[in-house]
Amino acid sequence: MNIPFNDLTPAVAKLRAEIDQAIGRVLDRGWFIMGPENEAFEQQLATYLGVKHAIGVGNGTEAIQIALAASGIGLGDEVICPAVTAAPTALAILATGAQPVFADIKPDTCTLDPTRLEECLSPQTKAIVPVHLYGLAADIPAIQAFADAHGIEVIEDCAQSHGAQIGDRYAGTLARIGCYSFYPTKNLGAYGDGGAVVTTDEDLARRIRQFGNLGQVKRFEHNLPGLNSRLDEIQAAILQVLLVHLERNNALRRERAMWYAELLDDVSDLTLPTEPTGYRHVYHLYVIHYPRRDALREHLHTQAIGTDIHYPKPLHQQKVFAGCRIATTGLPISEHITQEILSLPMYPHLTHEQVETICESIRRFK
Ligand SMILES: *Cc1c(COP(=O)(O)O)cnc(C)c1O
Repeated sequence: MNIPFNDLTPAVAKLRAEIDQAIGRVLDRGWFIMGPENEAFEQQLATYLGVKHAIGVGNGTEAIQIALAASGIGLGDEVICPAVTAAPTALAILATGAQPVFADIKPDTCTLDPTRLEECLSPQTKAIVPVHLYGLAADIPAIQAFADAHGIEVIEDCAQSHGAQIGDRYAGTLARIGCYSFYPTKNLGAYGDGGAVVTTDEDLARRIRQFGNLGQVKRFEHNLPGLNSRLDEIQAAILQVLLVHLERNNALRRERAMWYAELLDDVSDLTLPTEPTGYRHVYHLYVIHYPRRDALREHLHTQAIGTDIHYPKPLHQQKVFAGCRIATTGLPISEHITQEILSLPMYPHLTHEQVETICESIRRFK
């Protein structure tokens, strides 16, 4: 049985009629940028998350860049982010003219360790960008308390955490600004690029909107060094259909995580994802830790089981970030964990039989 790491076609097929209708509506209208679909989706997303404002943008990377720029962060500033995340988190910081400073993560959750922030601080530190990695929220209460004590901003990277929660609050609404990506493989994934920034701060919302729309305060009045970053009407129409199914799909992901946990429970040396009390994990990725990761991955590959590594290198080891500062005592957890993590197939239409096959194959590995 060939089990791909991911396959979007069944999910698309399931909603095909609704999607065709949504796209058709846009084609019939002949209005493709900044129209009624974007407005409707922004409203739907804001209502779902329980925030005042959602602003559609071009993609998740620019969502972070715009959130930082609208917060007044730029050249000469430093922004702390975890070393284990997708490169766009830190590339967005660079794009504002600021410098990323890499912090270490917690070994159990793989999210930013609030106790390791102090050593990243400098007089130039203006913000922290925690990442809700793999679908699990970072410890925002502790990170926010640290930020408040030092007068700096917290901007959440929610690209992997649509629908994740701490208590009854959604990721993206725990700090002042949340940044979303709708890249096709995300839990809420469009059929192309897309993103959004959410906030309850009126003033910030207005600046975010202006930054993403060429820095215009009104048509042909450019007051800010903005960029062209807008959610197009076709993606906004598709996202309206998909957002309705997000909670159900997240529940299916959680069920599959439970299957894995049951079937891999007693495998020695294998560490499974954790969900701290009060947190709702939405399993964008199902990431296990195993000391002989590369050999296990090769074994699964020979059984036609697709896996991936998120991410094979901590960001401070990427050439583009070579000149960036890191935590003063180093990044031992980030460097260790990137050798051991392995992402197993995880999507709503993954069957129980497939999960059984994957787990049997892991159990057979010696
Ligand atoms: C996907 C992702 C991004 C970037 O989003 P794009 O829409 O691809 O630009 C940023 N941060 C994290 C953690 C991501 O997973």
